[in-house]
Parts: sequence; structure tokens; C-alpha cells
Amino acid sequence: MSNDLTFCKMPLDRASHLRKNSAWLAGKVSSNDSCFYFYWQNKFLYLEQEIFAFSKNDYPNVSNVISMKSTKNNHHLTFLGLHMNTAHFVFDLSNMSEVELEQWLQSIGQNNEQRTAKFIDFRRSLSLLNAKQASILSYAKALIHWQQSAMFCGCCGNETQSLDGGHRRQCINEKCQTEQFPRTDPVVIMLVEYRPESGPAMCLLAEHHRTPEQVYSTLAGFVDPGESLAEAVSREVFEEVGINVAEVSFVDSQPWPFPNSLMLGFVARATSTKISIEEEELRSADWFTAEQIREFQEWGDDVDGPKLPRKESIARLLIDSWCENQHLS
Ligand SMILES: [Zn+2]
Repeated sequence: MSNDLTFCKMPLDRASHLRKNSAWLAGKVSSNDSCFYFYWQNKFLYLEQEIFAFSKNDYPNVSNVISMKSTKNNHHLTFLGLHMNTAHFVFDLSNMSEVELEQWLQSIGQNNEQRTAKFIDFRRSLSLLNAKQASILSYAKALIHWQQSAMFCGCCGNETQSLDGGHRRQCINEKCQTEQFPRTDPVVIMLVEYRPESGPAMCLLAEHHRTPEQVYSTLAGFVDPGESLAEAVSREVFEEVGINVAEVSFVDSQPWPFPNSLMLGFVARATSTKISIEEEELRSADWFTAEQIREFQEWGDDVDGPKLPRKESIARLLIDSWCENQHLS
């Protein structure tokens, strides 16, 4: 099933078989054609809010920082993949001080027709990116988040070193050598439907405390250790609204780099209808028919009344596709 969800249009070939080839990687790092993204504390570098991918050919002074930093500590540089034989890397400058960073940004501006170079918060920059660009930067951000949280060994506390182009870390203690790999946290997100013997089907939507008032969305929650996805769906639905479900079916998935989740979307059939909400998570929850949902406003509309979640979210995909299916039945 194809979809238009944000972060689901990755154009890069991850070329994982090349990550262990350090000579090949070194050649690509020094190549004038390779493409670099620059990251600093949750932000990516932009020139005039439009250019965020830099090659040594086109922006030699921007890329100078690569040789300067990578000789000191190569864990800053991560290989992302290939596009038409061009290697893409992300460079994490988060350890750079604000003073150093400011000097570098000014020099970039001076050498690029006085265009403003600045770091922009990833989430806020999403409106500047198309779906493919957002997918690359979300992948880069998720990898850096993992690297920053895996700097030390969880077994013995020693430092870890970066290997395989930034996709593996290993403890430097020779007696330990524990390895760490990038992690993704699975989250189930589910539309709960009820099909009465007569009359239209209904789906359960809830107002969450974490979203603006009157935005009605699906339920969601992290998968517990030792739990299947269907068990996680049943448990979360019962915990949040006191409803029992059966017939859990997978619909689609979406990487969610805030910070490193994978949203797994389901439809679950309710076997009961009496709602009892978990008040710490939810403001309210109710059953709605497709006809009622079609009257909802859009996220961000400045009017009174129920609103839908953001268009690019998997919650919205679950709601829209459920409503479409009600036309068919
Ligand atoms: Zn260790």
C-alpha cells in the first residue's frame, strides 16, 4: 500500500553492505561530489531556508569543517546511503560551542553571497522540505539521537567507538567489547471500530492532553517487552478507554523521529462500547460515524468544533481510510 505519510519516502539506497568498507567510506568522505548535512543540537544547517545539502564542489568552505572535525573524532560523521552513486553523510556538530558555531556560520554567509546560514529546528523545518527530503533528515536525526545516547557502554561504563559508518558502536574496554546497534521503539496506533447489528459502524476517537483541545485522534502506546503487537493493541485500548477488542488488523507504518519510534497502524474491532477513559492521558473519548467525521474541521482551523489530526500523520491515514471504507460497505 502506498501512502503520503511524512518520513515514508526515503530516496536513498542505504547501501548497508558498504558500511564496513572503511577505505570506500574514506574515499567518499573526501570526494567533492558527496553530499553532507550538518546537525547541531536538534537542528539542521540551512542557507536562506532552502539549501540544506552541501557538497565540497558547490560549498567548499561549508565542507571544510568535515576534515577539521573528522580527524579529531570520527564518530561525528555518519554514512546515510547512496543516491545515483552520490554518497550522503550527516555530520553532527553538537559538541561545537556556540561561539565556534557562530564564527563558522558567519564565514559561510560571507563566502556565499552574504546569504544567511543558520541552524533550524528539525520539526519546525518540516514545512521547508518535500517528503523525500524529510525522510532523509528524519533518518539522520534518529541515527544521531541513538549515537548520542550510546556514547558509553551500558555494561561497564567505558566509552564506545563508532564503527560501520556510524551504524554500530563498540565498547573500547578490551575485556568487554559490547556492541550497540541503532534502536527503534515500536508504538502501536489503532483505530477502534464497532459494527452494530443494525445502523452505521462507529469508530472511537479521543482528545489527548498532548494535542490542542477538540482535536480527535486514534489511541496509541508503546509496545511492552515480551508483548506481541496484537496484545499491545488490546492492552492499550483497554487501559485508555476500557474497551475490549478482537480482530486486530495491520494497516500501515510510519517512522517517527521524535525521538526514534516506529508507528505501527492497526484497525481493531471492539466487542464492547462502554467507554471509561484514562484521565491522565485523555480529555475525552467518544464514538463517531463516518458521516459525523466528514463534518470535522482540519487541524489548526480557528473555529469551534471537533478537528482531525494532521494530514501527514498515520492517525489521519487510519481515520481517512476507515471513512472511505464506510462508503463502500
Ligand atoms: Zn563495556
